[in-house]
Amino acid sequence: MNEADSENIAAAFRRRGYELTDEIKKADAVVVNTCTVRQRAEDKAISQIGRLRVWKEKRPEGKLFVVGCAAQKLGGKAIKNRFPFVDEVVGAKAIEAFEDSLINQLGPSPETETAHQNLFRSPQTAYVTIMRGCSLKCSYCIVPAVRGPAVFLSADAILKDAAAKIKAGAKEIVLLGQTVNAWRQDKTTFSELLEKALALPGLQRLRFMSPHPVYFEDDFTALLAREKKLARYMHLPVQSGSDRILKLMRRGYTRAQYLALLARLRAGAPDLAVSTDFIVGYPGETEEDFQDTLKLVEEGRFTMAYCFKYSPRSDRPEMAATLGEPEIEARLGKLLAAVKTNSRVILNERIGKIEEVLFETETYGRASGNFAVRVKAGGTPGKMAGVLVEKADKNTLNGKLL
Ligand code: SF4
Repeated sequence: MNEADSENIAAAFRRRGYELTDEIKKADAVVVNTCTVRQRAEDKAISQIGRLRVWKEKRPEGKLFVVGCAAQKLGGKAIKNRFPFVDEVVGAKAIEAFEDSLINQLGPSPETETAHQNLFRSPQTAYVTIMRGCSLKCSYCIVPAVRGPAVFLSADAILKDAAAKIKAGAKEIVLLGQTVNAWRQDKTTFSELLEKALALPGLQRLRFMSPHPVYFEDDFTALLAREKKLARYMHLPVQSGSDRILKLMRRGYTRAQYLALLARLRAGAPDLAVSTDFIVGYPGETEEDFQDTLKLVEEGRFTMAYCFKYSPRSDRPEMAATLGEPEIEARLGKLLAAVKTNSRVILNERIGKIEEVLFETETYGRASGNFAVRVKAGGTPGKMAGVLVEKADKNTLNGKLL
């Protein structure tokens, strides 16, 4: 979500004739897009803003913007009190009105449209935000507080955005939202929106990120089974394998319900690759709870998992970690090892199979299941081709172009 916001912000600058630079010395304006999903992210944002004092002293006419989730949480007043050299603060809830802040600081834009430009991915993949915020209340999560409740963009606006990005060269669209499959508009379901997006001329592959287990409806399973352009990949955060911890986290499902959902999805799409998120060391997590999480790695057949140590927040003393750092570290190490072993098994199962690969270079592309795929030569950037998998390395499938 932050990457997509950063791209929109960059586009607003480009409409005014600005270009991106990696060299801070050359910058006429700097935007710090902050994250607060973990305390560490917030701390890093604060130090980054602090370091920009030197730039601002050398370039007093330069404009410094602080935007995003940490900006929302800390508030404009507090940030400007601590860092008086900041020109403008725009919290996550107002990020769509960033243009107004630019007008305040730099005046109106002479142009109305600008070509889409990816900052973080290959040019053939484009992000399309379909919703903002989240209406769930997971106990550990700050997102609903900083981004607000779920707000859905209209189907028309979403399809227009996707069509414009395809016209500008994107072959693959990633629909984005904090709980992306919660999207609906009147009687239009998330699956119906996907169907409309899949029909856009020129689209080769459709992905979405990140769905929440509680929001899948039955029509999605059927759609996934029949629509091959819908990626055979899903990042479906589970967070814990223990029912007790899932309940404390207020995730809204049990371990059995999560596994039943995976089974339903894989019944129609047996090659579906699933990655997930885990939090280790949640307050009150016992050894038994942790063992349930470890077992889930294999049962869920995850191709990959982002494993995080529970991040206590200084402003929530009631949610302090109950385990010591060495124990949390030890559990994290065991979990990472289990994930690695399991991923290797799943990658090896792909040997001898044919993957539909969307090439980014002549030798590199991504399979529908989101695996990185390498061939010796012959791929055409922006084109899909079959690859016979011959070997699996750490995170990559190697094969022969068909
Ligand atoms: S669903 Fe995701 S964004 Fe929403 S509260 Fe839970 S963890 Fe946070």
